[in-house]
Amino acid sequence: MSKYPDTTIYTAAGASRETVQAEVPLFLPLLDAHPALTLFTRSTPGFEEVRQVFNANTTIQPLVVVSPRTEAEVSATISFCSSHSPRIPLAIRSGGHDMWGRSLVQDGVVVDLRNIKYVEISEDKSSARIGGGIMGGQLLDHLEKLGYTTPTGFCTGVGYAGWSLNGGYGVLEGKYGLGCDQILAARVVTATGEVVDTKDDPELLWALRGAGNGNFGAVVELTIKIYPQPTMLGGRLVFSLTEIQTVFTNLHELLVEEFPDEYSGDFLCAYVPGLGPIITLLYTWVQDGKDLTRARAHLEKTQAVGKVLLNDVAESKYCETPPYPIRWHLQASQPGIGKKLTRQNSSQQLRANMPPLWT
Ligand SMILES: Cc1cc2nc3c(=O)[nH]c(=O)nc-3n(C[C@H](O)[C@H](O)[C@H](O)COP(=O)(O)OP(=O)(O)OC[C@H]3O[C@@H](n4cnc5c(N)ncnc54)[C@H](O)[C@@H]3O)c2cc1C
Repeated sequence: MSKYPDTTIYTAAGASRETVQAEVPLFLPLLDAHPALTLFTRSTPGFEEVRQVFNANTTIQPLVVVSPRTEAEVSATISFCSSHSPRIPLAIRSGGHDMWGRSLVQDGVVVDLRNIKYVEISEDKSSARIGGGIMGGQLLDHLEKLGYTTPTGFCTGVGYAGWSLNGGYGVLEGKYGLGCDQILAARVVTATGEVVDTKDDPELLWALRGAGNGNFGAVVELTIKIYPQPTMLGGRLVFSLTEIQTVFTNLHELLVEEFPDEYSGDFLCAYVPGLGPIITLLYTWVQDGKDLTRARAHLEKTQAVGKVLLNDVAESKYCETPPYPIRWHLQASQPGIGKKLTRQNSSQQLRANMPPLWT
């Protein structure tokens, strides 16, 4: 089990053959050909749990959610839907973090890939084959135990495939590149159910690396680059949002002068009781070898871009560095930051307390 709560997945059993026959008999041929396939109808216990996506306002109701465990089950489901007359609308889902609910489809079939989440490290330890439904946090968890890492999105529940096929930014991007830069190969189930390996179709690999999600089929496996866990400085530099102009101007000047590959920085904006509206620079430095002298000098200059309200940048592992877990920012559980805060009331408070920024 992953240590990140947002990567825990359901364990419900799925619908019985009788339920399928009673509710959605058109799927019986699929189930009879693949009796081990887990399928949730609307009345199956666990349906709402598997349907739910990150954006809780999404009301799209699929007819069924299918939960394949193998490439063959993905292929059979897709070919069943596309060869049915009329065609059955289909959506592919992994982490469910698309804010527009594009991994759901009204009255259609959701192919939920989250049970395809294996990690197999290559003999030379430079790459890993991973299941197309794995989430960033599950992957990090697995790699970390073996002394490796790889870039992922900020939120551990974001699907790795959904993130990387989309470009995929994250705090290791300065040193290792974007998510799509990590992809070495893929296995894809196309709209007809055919399985294509990119070693037989290099053009498909080229297209997958950043062309967007789900445009070419369901990605059931990726081969990605992995790295020995590096020496790292990581953490947060928190400034008041009222200082944003000064912070951005000074940071811009600093980075024009020197923008080392080892450095990555991203900003988050939030409302925190006791501090008010803040901006946070997620500071990351990834170092070859052990010597962090350059990193500390760079951090010192970065700290000087504004009045730092909180600084917890320290030597750490990637998976232990803020924003992992990103919830800190919203629940504000860190010492000195204040009371619990939900995502929703953080953004409401942020809007209500927004300082006049550019006057
Ligand atoms: C809280 C939060 C934090 C985020 N942080 C980052 C971040 O740090 N960096 C960043 O770059 N982006 C970030 N994103 C954006 C996120 O990377 C994209 O929305 C991404 O597409 C989500 O992928 P998913 O698998 O979680 O979502 P899903 O909703 O499951 O899928 C998103 C899209 O990808 C398709 N898809 C998913 N898996 C596959 C697959 N295996 N094969 C084919 N198509 C597939 C789906 O059909 C859908 O169209 C964040 C989003 C949220 C909500």
